[in-house]
Amino acid sequence: MTKETPINRLTVLLAVLAAVAVVVTGLLGGAVPAHAATAAPKPVTVSLTFDDGDADQVQAAQVMQQNGLVGTFYIITGYLGAPGYMQQSDLAALAAAGNEIGGHSVTHPDMSALSQTEAQRQACQSRATLSSWGYQVRSFAYPFAESTSKTRDAVQACGYTNARGLGDVRTTRDCAGCVTAETLPPRRPMLTRAPSQVEADWTLADLQQQVTQAKTDKGGWVQLTFHHISDDPTLDPTTSPALFTQFAQWLAAYSADPANVTTVKTVGDAVGAPVQPVVQSPVPGPAPAGVNGVQNPSFQTTSATSPSGQKCWQYGGYGSNTAAFSTVTPGRIGTTSKAVSVTVSGYGDGDAKWLPSFDLGDCAPTVVPGHTYAMREWYKADTATQFTVYLRDSVTGSWHYWTSSPWYAAAPSWTQAAWTTDQIPAGFDGISFGLNLFTNGTLTTDDVALYDTVGAPAIATPTTTNTATPRSRTAAALTRIAPVVDALTVRSRAVLGQLDTSGTAGEIPR
Ligand SMILES: [Zn+2]
Repeated sequence: MTKETPINRLTVLLAVLAAVAVVVTGLLGGAVPAHAATAAPKPVTVSLTFDDGDADQVQAAQVMQQNGLVGTFYIITGYLGAPGYMQQSDLAALAAAGNEIGGHSVTHPDMSALSQTEAQRQACQSRATLSSWGYQVRSFAYPFAESTSKTRDAVQACGYTNARGLGDVRTTRDCAGCVTAETLPPRRPMLTRAPSQVEADWTLADLQQQVTQAKTDKGGWVQLTFHHISDDPTLDPTTSPALFTQFAQWLAAYSADPANVTTVKTVGDAVGAPVQPVVQSPVPGPAPAGVNGVQNPSFQTTSATSPSGQKCWQYGGYGSNTAAFSTVTPGRIGTTSKAVSVTVSGYGDGDAKWLPSFDLGDCAPTVVPGHTYAMREWYKADTATQFTVYLRDSVTGSWHYWTSSPWYAAAPSWTQAAWTTDQIPAGFDGISFGLNLFTNGTLTTDDVALYDTVGAPAIATPTTTNTATPRSRTAAALTRIAPVVDALTVRSRAVLGQLDTSGTAGEIPR
């Protein structure tokens, strides 16, 4: 029975009067009963979180262990083992010390800009990979703290029980009108409120304030977000190891004092939801025989959410050189069509090229191990060029340099480069490739195609003009992609994609 009756109303009134009496007693200086509202303790839960799996966070974990603290480490599974990032063995040590391993996507895209299917691949594959290594994965952090309702649904559908935003809790620097802490349980588990990330200029007092302001206000849950733990100022944002140690020592002492009713917990333990089953997220099937597998092959579709401006294309390149990327008109056919161009200057080493986006299936063509593929691309160039080819690991979703084609001579008018790959090695399910520049010059490309060689359309005039034989690498020797660290911070989202995403030396015939 839920309808309120006069008897019930009287009962409520009596209860209110009793409560007032207790409060008045307290105000008058009598002994304060443990259940008095004014004296109720305001418990605070603190979670120390670390984004991206940077290798320098290992020392933070050691400091935490020395002080009896645990935290949550959000891992970009596709970058694990790359230079500057943790190894798989680091995760094992973190977990053994009581830390939580959380997900931070496979390749750190702005997930709010992805289709829901692709966002779900980013979330599910990161969780499936971490789970396959034995971790109980409950917590997720959105790359760049960006999400939409579709993103949040996708992350939840993968079995994550909570996901962190940033910038919704008051700090000494921003969000003056915001709450001082998240509630427990959080109002919206798939978009938990947290202060802005800890910046390089935060002081010990700033860090302490996040804890004590919650304590003196309403209590609740404080998630602190660290990135690099290093004295290297070029790593942004970073916290010095000395400051982190000071804060860890303070927090350990503070939480050890029962009067402060403060507990340090991993995010998963703070939220407390049980571990969900692993959810898989398959890649799309390969293009049918005779169908071009390249998305947006003629650069006719722009995209406001693609950092390159071209839907399903990214800038690639590595090494010492300056590359300028652009979309040009006209393209190869017609007067209003488009093509893309790259100009390299100041060449020292490395290369530059346009590539189908290193993603998990919406853009990069799906390939089948054991099959060979015909790649074709029209180009104009004032110097030599070659195909550079990358493959996606079908288990982890990470991208690896595979091989390069022989090179193609400079061509003042539109010329088609065509090359057939070796058999795709076992363990890889996606491909990305493009003609590159490996010296100073300008290269313009258009009408890119990839066919399974079985059923591929014939070429009227094959134009392979080179002689050198490329070396391809065996699956075991495929080199891991080295992403640029600066691309991984919240603030540098605007330049993501203009930085090196391929990072591994190609085989340039000399
Ligand atoms: Zn991140």
